[in-house]
Amino acid sequence: MSFDSLSVDPFRLAVESSPAAMIVAGPDGVIQFVNAETERMFGYGRQELVGKSVDILVPAALRKGHAALRRGFFAEPSHRAMGAGRDLKATRRDGTEFPVEIGLTPIESATGPVVLATVLDITARREAETALTERAAELERANERLAQFAYVASHDLQEPLRKIAAFSDLLENAIASSNRADITYANQVMRTSALRARELVDDLLAFSRTINDEQRLQVLDLRKEVESALADLSHSIGEAKAEISVEIPPVRIRADRSQFARLMHNLVSNAIKYRKPGHAAKVDIGAVPQEDKAVRLAIADAGIGIEEKFAHTIFEPFKRLHSKGQYPGTGIGLAICKSIVDRHGWRISVSSQPGEGATFVVTIPTLSQQ
Ligand code: ADP
Repeated sequence: MSFDSLSVDPFRLAVESSPAAMIVAGPDGVIQFVNAETERMFGYGRQELVGKSVDILVPAALRKGHAALRRGFFAEPSHRAMGAGRDLKATRRDGTEFPVEIGLTPIESATGPVVLATVLDITARREAETALTERAAELERANERLAQFAYVASHDLQEPLRKIAAFSDLLENAIASSNRADITYANQVMRTSALRARELVDDLLAFSRTINDEQRLQVLDLRKEVESALADLSHSIGEAKAEISVEIPPVRIRADRSQFARLMHNLVSNAIKYRKPGHAAKVDIGAVPQEDKAVRLAIADAGIGIEEKFAHTIFEPFKRLHSKGQYPGTGIGLAICKSIVDRHGWRISVSSQPGEGATFVVTIPTLSQQ
């Protein structure tokens, strides 16, 4: 079908069916014409716009400077994109703002110079760009964690494996000389080292799962989830005669339930494990809502504490401040916590002094209450 076969003005038809909003205004900024898409995009009827200043479509914060920009355009009219390289926004009738791309075309009309502004709503494009940027950042973080993972996996597994190799030589000599004491000793060291290697591999697997497993985010009630994580720990809490207090206001968060449970599990078991020798563990779990729609979930213990200089390194895989003779463990627990927190886009930190206990704080965005 050609334009000629339509009984309407083809130019009007093209302008009215354009997917871009088209606005014609004079040097004084008064709107002379808008097309159908302008009405749809901005939420005004045509008669509400024609005769008004284009400034009503400009975000309030930018209105003051708009007249000067307009004068600049008419002083040197040329076809150009408005605000190239800047994030442009426009304002709807209801006051909401949305991102736009605007092309300006000077036109010499019968009544003098005017400008045709062609406006595209780029909300969908911006959302796709944001999603892509977030995805790229998440992939970069995952890559960093994997590189670190490969490094520590090979490095820390060397120790028990080297021991096994060395003691297998000793065992061979002891067998050759029928030295029963050495046979028993070498065998014992080899078994302990093999068990240690297995423990490290198990923990590495748990760590790699927190990096790679699919995250199932859902809306959770913070207090309920903390209480359920504590219920899972009831055996070790009872065994250590730990005194636990929980004070959490009703807030909702978005999290992967099993990862959140693991995070709580690791932090609370550490708070119990690193208690002062001869003292019962005392752990206070509290949450304080922040002004910026986030909550600070704090797990505070009265244990042995940590020197400030280790406040960052303890979150690295296999970083330990004590020998396994003093306190059992592989040094992976806090690395798992950090990985879970990073994947959720939260933050974790510790404040502590040796002998004064430690407080681990996780900052979590909250959702508004229904
Ligand atoms: P692990 O407990 O297996 O050693 P983690 O990664 O959980 O591994 O902790 C790393 C190190 O951080 C621990 O070895 C310990 O020195 C220190 N740490 C963790 N939590 C606490 C705590 N609540 N109080 C004192 N030190 C702690």
